Amino acid sequence: MSLQGYECNQCKNNFEEAEQNCAETSRKIKCPSCGSTDIKPSEAAAEFLELINEMGSTGG
Ligand SMILES: [Zn+2]
Repeated sequence: MSLQGYECNQCKNNFEEAEQNCAETSRKIKCPSCGSTDIKPSEAAAEFLELINEMGSTGG
């Protein structure tokens, strides 16, 4: 399961949510801080998460 970063347009809160499945389109993503659905995908957060995944996969 991968995570997708989002940014709230209301309170500028950044958070992560599990990527939505095609079979679960009815589920609306809401901001955990203010409960608003006015959010947008945060590309910066997505890149940050990818970086973490890479760091986790490359063990010494
Ligand atoms: Zn919010």
